[in-house]
Amino acid sequence: MKNKIIAGNWKMNNNRVQAEALITELIPLVSETKNTVIICVPFTDLCKAVKLTKGTNIHVGAQNCHWKESGAYTGEIAPSMLTELGVEYVVIGHSERRSYFGETDETVLLRTKAALAAGLKPIVCIGETLDERNSGNMEKVLSRQILDGFKDITADELKNIIVAYEPVWAIGTGVTATDEQANDAIAYVRSVFASKYGKTAADKLYIQYGGSMNDKNAEGLLNMPQIDGGLIGGASLVAAKFAAVVNAKK
Ligand code: PEP
Repeated sequence: MKNKIIAGNWKMNNNRVQAEALITELIPLVSETKNTVIICVPFTDLCKAVKLTKGTNIHVGAQNCHWKESGAYTGEIAPSMLTELGVEYVVIGHSERRSYFGETDETVLLRTKAALAAGLKPIVCIGETLDERNSGNMEKVLSRQILDGFKDITADELKNIIVAYEPVWAIGTGVTATDEQANDAIAYVRSVFASKYGKTAADKLYIQYGGSMNDKNAEGLLNMPQIDGGLIGGASLVAAKFAAVVNAKK
């Protein structure tokens, strides 16, 4: 099994004072891990997060970026504005952005391409809603999100991408996919990538699970063979809980 990549998604939480307290508490708790640790923080916390994590094993990510380099796009942030701060990762196509802010597979692709061109490593989120799962359309939805959302992504570019499989019904709901449900869905996701990029590339691709993952259920999920890590929302806001996820699989 690969080492795991564990990313915290703080969403719209933590001002600069709270961010400093959380990061300061987190640093010693995750310093021994062999896993990759990433915290994806609000734009306003990025400078502080980069400064505080310098020289530690914690990497910093943003939660979105635009696809243009500059221009009349009020409220948006260009990928190069992130890299110049020392940001390494960026979450793209989170289900909250898809449902509240009109993100589509097409805009996911544009943002991913631009992020890669700027040298960021995108964490691209995909996942089905409960209705889609219950109506037997999970595979169709995942396959569409991959084939459209990765349409122009080359095999070389894929090496710098992390995929997060996040069933929408499990995000922020306290309902976690069972270890088997998460593993099976990720096996399916990997098979779609294999059909596009070949088995070797698909096997190397890091595919995280996300959706109410926490200190209690992380060990089971992270021990499943298909699950290469986690994207953690709520539990990443508490240093001890996030550290327990990071340290759940040695
Ligand atoms: C997320 O924000 O990507 C997420 C998985 O949230 P939560 O862990 O709170 O379900």
